[in-house]
Amino acid sequence: MEQARTAKEITENEQQLPSIYSLQLQDLKDWLKEQGEKPFRAEQIFDWLYKKRITSYEEMSNLSKELREKLTAHFAITTLKTLIQQESSDGTIKFLFELHDGYSIETVLMRHDYGNSVCVTTQVGCRIGCTFCASTLGGLKRHLEAGEIVAQVVKVQQALDEKDERVSSVVIMGIGEPFDNYDQMLAFLKIINHEKSLNIGARHITVSTSGIIPKIYKFADEEMQINFAISLHAPNNELRTKLMPINKAYKLPDLMEAVRYYINKTGRRISFEYGLFGGENDSVDHAIELAELIKGLKCHVNLIPVNYVPERDYVRTPKNKIFEFEKTLKDRGINVTIRREQGHDIDAACGQLRAKERSEETR
Ligand code: SAH
Repeated sequence: MEQARTAKEITENEQQLPSIYSLQLQDLKDWLKEQGEKPFRAEQIFDWLYKKRITSYEEMSNLSKELREKLTAHFAITTLKTLIQQESSDGTIKFLFELHDGYSIETVLMRHDYGNSVCVTTQVGCRIGCTFCASTLGGLKRHLEAGEIVAQVVKVQQALDEKDERVSSVVIMGIGEPFDNYDQMLAFLKIINHEKSLNIGARHITVSTSGIIPKIYKFADEEMQINFAISLHAPNNELRTKLMPINKAYKLPDLMEAVRYYINKTGRRISFEYGLFGGENDSVDHAIELAELIKGLKCHVNLIPVNYVPERDYVRTPKNKIFEFEKTLKDRGINVTIRREQGHDIDAACGQLRAKERSEETR
């Protein structure tokens, strides 16, 4: 296994250029025009990057040497170094990738009968501080650039190319709070969704937030046909504050108001993620309260049995109680599923691999 370099070991003159994967097709056209080049070259470049998935400008054989040199001087083709690749018995593959500055991030490939799904990271660490989550343990180190998020999907697609398979869906549920890095996250969505790029359909993309309310309004106004999930985890304001400190700033009643706005604006169903934390939020009374809270909303509840995090002391809800919780919701007309667990044998819950491997610098 290659050793992760610490941020200190990255020399100062190793300044990274912006990632070419951060550019929308139109951005690239505009840049080409500025350079006195033909805008249609942008499509050729996208084809090399996203369809042929090459990793160096030299391979772009239909571009002039001069243009390739200009590209080299302006944009990096972000390549992520694989530090760890762990495959679970159920086919889930978890990657620990190193960024150019030595920080590491996690990306997970999940295999479903309906296709391959990639779970991407949007930040190095997280500052939201949810009490059950491994990703937030070391705080936030930095935001990812859109291209660094795109590069995760490209990298997993390159691994799948060997098997002649395709990434069919993307979930933004890895490390980080996507709405805390809103602009880069949105740029990422638009890039992977573009037909000249990876062409991942909006309905095959899911973004999840811990509940940054102003950004929920903003996102609703984008009117994208994306699947949207809210990490709810509690049926009342007091308990939610206990589990998720972000609820102090963005309170549950206001969050529900934003959710209603989102559903009205987009016409789309929303998902609520509800982690079951033993003895905390998993009683029948909690289920009844939850059903009351979301009654009449166009929504779906995804129950997540807690993933054990060594640094946290939450315990699992017994199976029969999980089913009882599910039934209590169902009986009240709520759409509910229990999340299928994948990659349990490989620390697949967000942030766990990175938490194990974090170098001195990222601690
Ligand atoms: N920051 C975003 C994206 C993370 S998505 C968000 O909060 O929505 C990952 C989902 O897993 C979130 O719903 C998160 O709350 C949940 N989660 C985090 N740690 C968990 C744990 N130990 N057990 C179960 N679910 C967890």
